[in-house]
Amino acid sequence: MSHHVIGADSLTDAGDERFSVINPADGSIVSTYGLADAAAVDEAVAAARKAYPEWSGATPKERSDALHRFAGLLAERAEEFAHAEVRQTGKPIRLATEFDVPGTIDNTAFFAGAARNLEGKAAAEYSGDHTSMIRREPVGVVGSIAPWNYPLQMAAWKILPAIAAGNTIVLKPAEITPLTSALYARTALDAGVPAGVVNVVSGRGPVAGAALVAHPGVDMVSFTGSTAVGRQVGAAAAGAVKRVHLELGGKAPFVVFADADLEAAAHGAVAASLINSGQDCTAATRAYVARPVFGAFVERVAELMGSVVLGDPTDPATDLGPLVSFAQRDRVAGFVERALAAGAKAVTGGYAPGDTLSEGAYYAPTVIINAAQDSEIVQQEVFGPVLAVLPFDTDDEAIALANDTPYGLAASVWTRDVYRALRGSSELRAGCVWVNDHIPIISEMPHGGMRGSGFGKDLSMYSFDEYTQVKHVMIDRTGVAAKGWQRTIFAGPH
Ligand code: NAD
Repeated sequence: MSHHVIGADSLTDAGDERFSVINPADGSIVSTYGLADAAAVDEAVAAARKAYPEWSGATPKERSDALHRFAGLLAERAEEFAHAEVRQTGKPIRLATEFDVPGTIDNTAFFAGAARNLEGKAAAEYSGDHTSMIRREPVGVVGSIAPWNYPLQMAAWKILPAIAAGNTIVLKPAEITPLTSALYARTALDAGVPAGVVNVVSGRGPVAGAALVAHPGVDMVSFTGSTAVGRQVGAAAAGAVKRVHLELGGKAPFVVFADADLEAAAHGAVAASLINSGQDCTAATRAYVARPVFGAFVERVAELMGSVVLGDPTDPATDLGPLVSFAQRDRVAGFVERALAAGAKAVTGGYAPGDTLSEGAYYAPTVIINAAQDSEIVQQEVFGPVLAVLPFDTDDEAIALANDTPYGLAASVWTRDVYRALRGSSELRAGCVWVNDHIPIISEMPHGGMRGSGFGKDLSMYSFDEYTQVKHVMIDRTGVAAKGWQRTIFAGPH
């Protein structure tokens, strides 16, 4: 089983430190491999540099054709991807087969088309004496670092816009979830994307990740992960004056006005807080609910959460799998314990289930009420199946509370009132605002944060703004020796 792809080679080991990928559903070992060290990062960057001249010089059609073949081969391997993703993350097979894998195939097909649509301003004679034109050029070798929550999708989101625009890339997935990122790179190779265009080195953040960010052969750093690590990565990239793109944590508010369709809002809150066991940067984490409907909303959400089936992630009947690791389960439990100790109440959940589920990293779907706005559970990213619900009295208060965390990735408003919907979409400070829904993403539209959630966009044509640099070319069209503007230097005739 491949854990790294460097140039044309698929490798199990890229360093001496042994590491085991654990299935969080039962604690079993999925695979054991050698983590990438700094020497492996060197090799991968060298492979990417070597591939760059030819790949960046390929025509858009050539890059597009390779990506179309890549999308086709992914579709053939869909089942293999889904099973590998389930084994390393514990996510339910329904989520992998209906969301992660088809989403990735669609992203790949989208960027196959997008590769032929890089646009710039029209060439024109803006000064009168020159023709100006814009070139959009690739940045060079991109170093990307990805988290463990959606390993396949995060690999695709990083790799696709980079290579569609003519860059080459070295991606470092989280060491606990290397399998589908390596398989994605392997599939690119098998589809005829030239060796070295996509490289994957799986290793620890402070070792392989830090080496990649600092590497002089890396022209740009693209990071998705927590705000704490993003701050370090951003500082290291700034020190080397490298372009940086940061997709960081989130703490998405879910605002329910009194006029909302309460049944739709309750279903939305449950699905959007539990998706991927709540390990989703855009998950609904804080519901603000108008006081007259607060009680009914909490009751219905708790009831629906109670009906969600936890179990074996490979069983298509399972709604909710474990968290990605026992460490993450314990982290989530710690947030809830501290919230309860501070006076909040768990309406449902608030514990790790026993019996056979205790062999895995499971945590029960949890609804928390009576938490203070400034408490940890409302302000910090929990990254688990936990929803805090707080009441509000006025529209102004709802918007203010929703905006009152350091994050700004996603938000939703639930209302039948068009003015409230429009106000929410303009005043909520987040990179994405949904109206009467929460979670859907599509290849054509951008994903990215504001404020503490970072900057830059994944997905869509907007992601090319990160992975290309704009060059102005200005061509003299007068042909005269003494240009008009040179009067600033030459006072009289020369
Ligand atoms: P993390 O920040 O702990 O790790 C992310 C990646 O950074 C991993 O590959 C890790 O190995 C690496 N890393 C750690 N230390 C590093 C260092 N010093 N130098 C370089 N790399 C280093 O995040 P995580 O726990 O893997 O993932 C969860 C986080 O990711 C959450 O905060 C979540 O919100 C965020 N996330 C954000 C988005 C988004 O699009 N904004 C998407 C998915 C996940």
